[in-house]
Amino acid sequence: MAYDDQNIFARILRGELPAFKVYEDEQVLAFMDVMPQAEGHTLVIPKTPAVTLLDLDPEAAAYTIQIVQKVAKAIEKALDVKGIVLMQLSGAAAGQTVPHVHFHLIPTSVHELGKHAAKMGDMEQIKAIGEKIKAAL
Ligand code: AMP
Repeated sequence: MAYDDQNIFARILRGELPAFKVYEDEQVLAFMDVMPQAEGHTLVIPKTPAVTLLDLDPEAAAYTIQIVQKVAKAIEKALDVKGIVLMQLSGAAAGQTVPHVHFHLIPTSVHELGKHAAKMGDMEQIKAIGEKIKAAL
């Protein structure tokens, strides 16, 4: 699928839209989801333009997973949670709403997962949780 460089995450990567960033390096960015499915819902994205995991260069995918693991450990430590749902939607047919590949880290149980991309969260609360996660990294 062709990559649309006007998608929300491409715009966040270019600094055109704000984000509560918790981690950034040359290849990957992690930031808070603004419509969290649980408190602490964080997104990890490769900077490489790819729509789905299937389009992503395997080396970029491998590196991104290393950062997913790193951020997951920080979430566990910062929020004192024991379980994290790792979710990755590839394709609109799977429910993907933003066409730039990303990994969801959702500190909850699959049985408690809130509705997907449904309701804006409390920005002050999201910011405060993001700061805790950032401090644990
Ligand atoms: P997906 O449906 O897998 O593509 O997930 C996209 C995620 O991005 C959803 O969980 C949305 O809540 C989240 N989202 C959409 N816009 C923004 C934004 N501007 N900043 C942070 N997260 C966003």
